Order: sequence, then C-alpha cells, then structure tokens
Amino acid sequence: MADPPQPGTADNPAAESGTNPETLPVLSLFDGVVGQKRAVGALRSAARRPVHAYLLHGPPGSGKRTAGRALAAALLCPEGGCGHCATCHRVLRGAHPDLVEIERSGAALEVDEARSIVVRAQNRPLEATRQVLVVDDVHLAGKAVPALLKTVEEPPPTTVFVLIADDTPPELATIVSRCVTIPFDPVPEHDVAAWLVGRGVDPAQARAVAGASGGRLDRAELLVGDPGFAARQEQWRAVPSRLDGSGAAAAAVAEELLAAVDEAVTPLRQQHARELVVLAEEAEAVGNKGIAGRRGIEDRHRREERRWRTDDLRFGLATLAGVYRDKVVSSTEGTQGAVSPGVTQTRQRAVRQVAAIEQATQALPRNPNESLLMDALMVVLSGMDE
Ligand SMILES: [Zn+2]
Repeated sequence: MADPPQPGTADNPAAESGTNPETLPVLSLFDGVVGQKRAVGALRSAARRPVHAYLLHGPPGSGKRTAGRALAAALLCPEGGCGHCATCHRVLRGAHPDLVEIERSGAALEVDEARSIVVRAQNRPLEATRQVLVVDDVHLAGKAVPALLKTVEEPPPTTVFVLIADDTPPELATIVSRCVTIPFDPVPEHDVAAWLVGRGVDPAQARAVAGASGGRLDRAELLVGDPGFAARQEQWRAVPSRLDGSGAAAAAVAEELLAAVDEAVTPLRQQHARELVVLAEEAEAVGNKGIAGRRGIEDRHRREERRWRTDDLRFGLATLAGVYRDKVVSSTEGTQGAVSPGVTQTRQRAVRQVAAIEQATQALPRNPNESLLMDALMVVLSGMDE
C-alpha cells in the first residue's frame, strides 16, 4: 500500500504552511525561534518524516540551537511534538536523557571529540524510541569530518543527528551532502525589536538596538546591556553638525568615531574574559593545569571581536547615512513650485554624501585601513573635495 500523501517536504515548506494546523509538531514548540518562518516550516515538515541527519546552518544568533532543541522535542515526543507532554518540556529545557548536546571543548571540533561522538551514536535510547545527538559548531569540524562522515551518513536506526553550523565551508561538503539541510537567515529587524520588547525592553530602545543587531539575537542581547550604545548612536548622528569644512574637524571626528567603535567591543571582550574564567575553573576542577586549546579559543575571540567591530562600524555608517537621507527628503519638501538653486545644491550634496557613506560601507568586508577609510569619508562629507 502506498504511503499517505505528505503535506510538505523539507525542500518545500510552503506546501504545508497553514494548511493543516493540527499537523504535528505543533507550531508552539518553535516559539523560542525568532523570525525564522521558512526554517520553522522546513523543520516541521522534516520532523514528520524523520531522517538520520539534519544540518541547521546560518549566521550566529539566528536561533539554530533553540530550533535544534525544538526539532529534538518533535523527534522524541511520543506524539511527534505535542508541545505539552513531559518529554516535550524536558527536551526544550535540555533535560532529557535521549537529547545529547555536544559542544567542542577547544577552538575546533577535534578528531578525538568526533570519535567520542561516533561511540555515543551507537548507544541505545534510554526512554524514547530514538536518541538525538545535537552537535554544535560543525563549521569548525574541518579535520574531524572524515572521522564523523560514516556515522553521520548511516547512524544506527535509533540515532538522529542534528548538526549546527554558522556556515558550510568547502571541507564540510561531504557532511552537508549527507544531511537534510535547513538554512537560517539573519533575524528580520522588526522581529528582533518585538523579541526585545517581549523581554521588557523599552520599545524605542528595542528599535534602535534591533537596527544595530545585524539580525543577530546574541548581538542584540549584548547591546541592550551596553551602557554606551545610545551615546555612540548619538555620536554618529551628530557628525554633520561637527564637520565645519576644516581638515582639523574632519580628522578629529574620524578619530573619535573609531575610538567609539573600539569602546563598543568592550561588552564582548568582557564576555570572552568570563568564558575563559569558567573554562579555567572547569580545567582546575578535573585537575588540569590550564585550559586545553587556549590559543585556539583566544584566536576565535579575536575573530569574533573583529567581526563585532565591523558590525558596529557598519551600524554607525548606516545611522549616518540616515541623517543625510533625511536631508535629501527635507530639502525637497514643500518645493512643488520653482526649486531655488540653493535647494538643488543642498540636495545634490546630500545625495553625494549618502553615496560616499555607502561606498565606505561596501569596503568594510575587504578589511580596509579603517583610519584611512574614515578620514577620506569625513573629507567628502565636509565638502572639502568639491
Ligand atoms: Zn510532546
């Protein structure tokens, strides 16, 4: 007898969306996943016909780990993800014996860690009909891929892999091809804002932080607790009024903005310092002298701090572009009749200023010399190049 028709597949989440609200897993199981309609639709479809391995991939702070637990709940719940039984609740809390969450201990997922995952995959489930192995940071598994591949491709029938990765570098290609892949996007700005408001953040601050979050909930969370955030935003907004057409003012503003971007990294640096303290305590508790793979962890911290700087600079430039855009709009307001040459000139200048900011923003991924970039930008914004 043929299988009953399936309402949707992982590749075609739209096919099932909203057609049958009673279909399990229930949508509320994914309540913790913010602004990922497409991924949630794909996960719900995928959970209805479990396969041996899933790969959830997308930018940091996009909710992949939360989604991984929700998927695990759907796979372990006797009803297929009812959202209200003890199993669902325990899995969502991370407190079910058949949910195995694996995090790397050092900078990368090492070969010996991959081997212990392979051993773990052979275990029988303790309570449910299957066990779910959630493996985090698989994008850092480069060297461990060969050790993992065979088991991910064909685990015991009672084991399901949920792999989580920030991106899918070429060395991951073989693993990727063995999984049902579920892509995650940056969280839309209005969803970040609503999420913050739901956590008690003032709506105006929530909007500002969401705009600066780059679609990352982890970044939004740190910015909310960052006492310097509002002041930095104000500093960028004040740039046009600070530029008086002199080279001295342009240079001073450029320098101050970059100092503010340095300052912006402080909360992340503090978080990294706390992480090292915890790791050192854990190492001491098991009698180790130091943190295993400390250098690699510090390398990762430096990478994250660089990325954070770039994100902050991008946000500052976007804020500044907004100020000049407002000038374009206000220069054209109430000018239905004859436009005076002065208005035309103001408008043309503002359009040029916005274009210069956009050009600077586009240069950021190429790791430019930030001082030169900002100096040159302030010269253009001052009108000194005209
Ligand atoms: Zn349930």
